[in-house]
Amino acid sequence: QPARPRKPDWLRVKLPVGKEYAQVRSLVDQYKLHTICESGNCPNMGECWGAGTATFMILGNVCTRSCSFCAVATGRPNEYDTDEPRRVAEAIKLMGVKHAVITSVNRDELKDRGASIWHETVVQVKQLSPETTIETLIPDVKGNWEALYTMISPGQEVVSHNMETVESLYRMVRPQAKYERSLEQLKRIKEYGKRSKSGIMLGLGETKEEVYKAMDDLAANGLDILTLGQYLQPTKRHLEVAEFIHPDLFAHYREEGLNRGLKYVESGPLVRSSYHAERHVHI
Ligand code: SF4
Ligand code: SF4
Repeated sequence: QPARPRKPDWLRVKLPVGKEYAQVRSLVDQYKLHTICESGNCPNMGECWGAGTATFMILGNVCTRSCSFCAVATGRPNEYDTDEPRRVAEAIKLMGVKHAVITSVNRDELKDRGASIWHETVVQVKQLSPETTIETLIPDVKGNWEALYTMISPGQEVVSHNMETVESLYRMVRPQAKYERSLEQLKRIKEYGKRSKSGIMLGLGETKEEVYKAMDDLAANGLDILTLGQYLQPTKRHLEVAEFIHPDLFAHYREEGLNRGLKYVESGPLVRSSYHAERHVHI
């Protein structure tokens, strides 16, 4: 067995401390909300929560899917909480964020894939915080385009859907998803008139050519914003890191993405789809 690569210095992060951090912590608890920051063991919690921001994860914290990189629990979800949109909206108002990012688990067992809760959440956030811009990081609707349009029709400024990886690794990384279907979802988001965004994790064993191909495909489907970040293994039970990508290569991919016509590319080891999301709302 080859030795596992050691975590390089550029992945060191700040510890979670401070007043803002404590405020986010207490809002999340008080309003009984879930965040992908916690559920996904995100390395940026110190920075983001310390700056008073978090990414709420709606529709519960149990997912019908079992992506091999993801720390969210898989199973049969038992939550369908129609009061959640109100609590998310109130928490976002109290946090006073300029730009809110909201995501969700997959709810494949629901006929509408959770679209009505998604819709209601955006409507209520906009009602309580009309100045706040919103990004919704939505799941794979499995070709249910009616559900897609319900999710993306309220006033969010950006709609993202993550490709997560290159085509050849889909079976290993996102077994219940399809590369072409996710591309089509992104194309429809764009055609609907929304700013479209996607994210890819690197370090799963993809080749450079495969990354270029993914960027070509995304550009061909009208993508506006791309995030590229290092995959980190959330627990020992998850997919191992194949490689730690050097920051210079991240910078190179950024140039390659821009050359392909993507409008904005955020690329770096600690980049996550919700990281510094406020920077590219108005591109
Ligand atoms: Fe949360 Fe996103 Fe920040 Fe990570 S990068 S802590 S998921 S807001
Ligand atoms: Fe995690 Fe999303 Fe995959 Fe569910 S669909 S396992 S939340 S990445």
